[in-house]
Amino acid sequence: MSAPNSDQPTPQSTWDEERCKSALASLERLQTQLDTLRLVMPRIVEPLNSGSTDRAALFAAFAKGTIGSQRDIKEFRATWQSQEVQSVFEHARASLEKDDDLSAGAEVAQFGWVDAVEKERERSKRREKGGQPEEVKAKLDAEEIRRVLEEWKVGVEGKGFAISTKEEDREILVSFVAGGMRLKFRIVVEEEGKRIGVECLGKGSPFTSIGKCVTSRPRDDDLAYLLDMLAAYRTVKGNSCAKCGKMLDEATMMTTARRSRQTANADGSSGTIWEAFHEGCLE
Ligand SMILES: [Zn+2]
Repeated sequence: MSAPNSDQPTPQSTWDEERCKSALASLERLQTQLDTLRLVMPRIVEPLNSGSTDRAALFAAFAKGTIGSQRDIKEFRATWQSQEVQSVFEHARASLEKDDDLSAGAEVAQFGWVDAVEKERERSKRREKGGQPEEVKAKLDAEEIRRVLEEWKVGVEGKGFAISTKEEDREILVSFVAGGMRLKFRIVVEEEGKRIGVECLGKGSPFTSIGKCVTSRPRDDDLAYLLDMLAAYRTVKGNSCAKCGKMLDEATMMTTARRSRQTANADGSSGTIWEAFHEGCLE
């Protein structure tokens, strides 16, 4: 038997807060894999629709789509059958039998658990390594918020971004037109800068999806990063997805997520580029 993965708590462990968060992260991963499976059929069928007469290329594309899809299904099955996920289901069933009032569940965020659990793990790893101090970040007080905003404004000047603030800069409204529609975001920096909330204003798709994708961003305590991510909704050229390569996913939804990637330049320096993704194509 392979060595147990230390990332995964054993099913016997008690259902304390840490265990529940880890369970939510497992379910979030499962959901992401499931979302990816929606692409299985389109991926297999697409080469046959391409109109290409190059039989070898056609077969290669078809085989690639089929094998990739098979792999995704296998991975999903393995996650579903894993001890971790099964123990979550078991716990949920037992809990439901005890009390079938699920209304409290509506208050629980659907996304962001994978990141939260990763971060907590990093922190405890650092503590284990002899209590090295955590990376010291500038406290997100009024002065720091203003500094970050000013720096960002300079960077996007003349590019069509409207920005206004309320509540001593703790509430920031960013608005711009991208792909023929106006996007409006409200950022709220909570007291002492402990949490940065963001919502995409507007009802229905794609606004709901964009809201979910910015909320589930990495580095969720980094205001400058969030502002750059919002700007990427306007500045990313061509909106095809960096994962599946298509403009629209099978639900004819556009790319509603933006994620950054570090690149190495020829001169050895590194840079950040932003890419577009479908919500279902996020890792
Ligand atoms: Zn995609």
